[in-house]
Amino acid sequence: MSPAAGGLDALAILGGTPAFTEPLHVGRPNIGDRAVLLRRIEDVLDRRWLTNGGRFVEEFEQRIAEMHGVRHCLAVTNATVGLQLAAHALGLTGDVIMPSFTFVATAHSMAWIGLRPVFVDVGPDTHTIDPARVEAAITAETSAILGVHLWGRACEVEALKATADNRGLALLFDAAHALGCSHRGRWVGGFGDAEVMSFHATKVANAAEGGAVLTDDDELAARMRVIRNFGFVALDEVVSLGTNAKMNELCAAMGLTSLESFDEFVAANQRNHEAYASGLSDLDGVELVSFDPAEANNFHYAVVELSPAFVERLPRDDLVAALHAENVLARRYFTPGCHRVEPYATSATALPVTEDLSERLVALPTGTAVGPAEIDAIAAIARRAVDEAPAVRERVQDVIARTAVQR
Ligand SMILES: *Cc1c(COP(=O)(O)O)cnc(C)c1O
Repeated sequence: MSPAAGGLDALAILGGTPAFTEPLHVGRPNIGDRAVLLRRIEDVLDRRWLTNGGRFVEEFEQRIAEMHGVRHCLAVTNATVGLQLAAHALGLTGDVIMPSFTFVATAHSMAWIGLRPVFVDVGPDTHTIDPARVEAAITAETSAILGVHLWGRACEVEALKATADNRGLALLFDAAHALGCSHRGRWVGGFGDAEVMSFHATKVANAAEGGAVLTDDDELAARMRVIRNFGFVALDEVVSLGTNAKMNELCAAMGLTSLESFDEFVAANQRNHEAYASGLSDLDGVELVSFDPAEANNFHYAVVELSPAFVERLPRDDLVAALHAENVLARRYFTPGCHRVEPYATSATALPVTEDLSERLVALPTGTAVGPAEIDAIAAIARRAVDEAPAVRERVQDVIARTAVQR
């Protein structure tokens, strides 16, 4: 066995002690100024205004609309419901073309309201929906295209817009990752008919649970406001089918406080991204997913793409197992693609790029809870795992065999 590198004990997966006593998470919530948050919560309680057009929700909506240069922002309970609100208000029917390489909520949101997700492949370099595949998947049943700005890197919005316009389709974006991101110098949020952001606890800024629907379309915004609140246009006056998608004041208090620290969160993420870039630079076959320096990005995701040669030597899942043993809770985003999970798997066709990417990507811990010292140690673990790949692989196989016997 090689001597311990960089002061590390043996890899934990091979019997050493874990490098971290506390788990390092990919999506550990960023917490803003606690005192400010608590003051806002006191204010909510003092005013006894908990929801329904409260001051903090309105302020939250204004901040996001201003930040992204869009006319309308509707704060909602979460992004999943936000996508449904937009889809329903747009009158979508039948099929919605979307990538499979995304968080499952993108697909579930549409399926839950009776629309059929039609999955197409993503570009191998962009990781976002491939406009040529979209074009080829359109049928008489198609009513919309739903792109996902994965890792905050915008879709090829111009090509998607041209297709949507030519074919008379609605165009929606799942912008759950894209708060504070830009595309060709324009803020995300104003593309397509509507864009939906997430303020879930694990996102770069959070409202504990929350979402925001952004649009420049006045009529669509008005319809969504009505649907968000049970179809009410006035007291006792219901004009359409509606739901309850309203964000409450406590979540808005958290959301506003979080937005005030957004620049700080992004700075921490960017510092971490740079630490990963330098820490992993000498590791062959490990490429950090990068961001165009000409665009704004929130650096929320530190994702590495392992080369085919790398995974041949050390499969991605074995690397993840080695990291987990050290208490580094890396995630296999997004494994498998949506088309490989129920209720979609039974009717799905193969998507080669998605399937390939879903076996070669690893999301690493970042955010304000992680810093360069931890990242140096994570990089050292990865290097060690590669050096000792045969032993790591054997160990993972042993564990699998033993679990199988126990079952
Ligand atoms: C987080 C996420 C969602 C869901 O957001 P919620 O606010 O939790 O409903 C949807 N799509 C993507 C790509 C996400 O990462």
